[in-house]
Amino acid sequence: MRSTGQRTLVTGGAGFLGSHVCDALIRRGDDVLCVDNFHTGTRDNIAALLEHPRFELLQHDVTLPLDVAVDRIFNLACPASPVHYQHDPVQTTRTCVHGAMNMLALAHKRGARILQASTSEVYGDPEVHPQPESYWGRVNPIGMRSCYNEGKRCAETLFFDYRRQYDLQIKVVRIFNTYGPRMYVDDGRVVSNFIVQALRGEDVTLYGDGSQTRSFCYVDDLIEALLAAMDTPADFTGPVNVGNPAELSMRELAERVLRLSGSRSRIVHRPLPPDDPKVRRPDIALAERALGWQPRVPLDAGLEKTIAYFRAHLNA
Ligand code: NAD
Ligand code: UDP
Repeated sequence: MRSTGQRTLVTGGAGFLGSHVCDALIRRGDDVLCVDNFHTGTRDNIAALLEHPRFELLQHDVTLPLDVAVDRIFNLACPASPVHYQHDPVQTTRTCVHGAMNMLALAHKRGARILQASTSEVYGDPEVHPQPESYWGRVNPIGMRSCYNEGKRCAETLFFDYRRQYDLQIKVVRIFNTYGPRMYVDDGRVVSNFIVQALRGEDVTLYGDGSQTRSFCYVDDLIEALLAAMDTPADFTGPVNVGNPAELSMRELAERVLRLSGSRSRIVHRPLPPDDPKVRRPDIALAERALGWQPRVPLDAGLEKTIAYFRAHLNA
């Protein structure tokens, strides 16, 4: 593979999505600098890259300033699972806001293009369905999820102010629920919880009555969209939704996981966490138009790959 001569920084590069972004960038010939403080990420996720001549790892916390020579920045550093981001909510807001400020300052100093991994959480518990980018959202500013969704909203504000004030090249991508290999066993998010519980023969924990919906995107599709967003023309800023619009209830998801894994686990109900959005589905018309992108992996196929990953992981 020929080098592109481009040096790309991936913050949160040892995490679930970040490690897949690093893989994809190495495959296409970039020099990759992975920055992570290993808050939720692991060395295992990037083990295959550590010896690669175009890959470099820097253990660093993005809430502190950083000055390195880079052409492009994917800003992914931030815990994404509600269990993880609510564990130390003050640090979560700090990572979202100070992390964004530090990476924007770096992009400004180095003349780099910068992409923000934003989230469907900016829409909160939406009353517009599906959610287009023009919807401003319905977010509780003082709840358990606020450290994350208000932190991410503030990060978006900072990105657009840097654009207006300093003419920075920004890309804001609103990522909807994504799943796949390298999610963590103890992640707490629904897909990994259900699969791990099903494979261990434990009760599958359905929160509330299970009628709440989500739309799940397989990781390979998501990574393709992130790279396409980074490569859009300079005048394209987003925000752009990226996700798979196939929507289903959490009860349907539990039943599907049990069927595909051949598990005989029982489904049990647990209380619905506060502010849990009742529905979520991306309107991806803009992504289709601007990125020339559509998700390709159907839910059953993606779940089968993810189940195979966790089966091997748990056996090891
Ligand atoms: P993850 O927890 O697996 O990865 C986050 C990574 O960031 C980890 O490696 C962690 O160690 C690192 N990190 C956290 N705080 C840091 C800090 N202060 N300094 C340096 N590194 C730090 O989560 P993920 O699912 O890979 O999510 C990655 C990004 O994508 C996050 O910004 C998240 O908000 C966004 N996102 C993900 C999803 C999804 O479904 N996976 C959905 C919407 C948005
Ligand atoms: N959920 C569930 N059981 C679990 C974990 C999550 O029923 O073991 C539900 C959760 O209440 C939410 C949905 O699954 O309605 C998605 O949760 P997740 O934490 O994966 O992500 P969110 O989209 O809420 O950030």
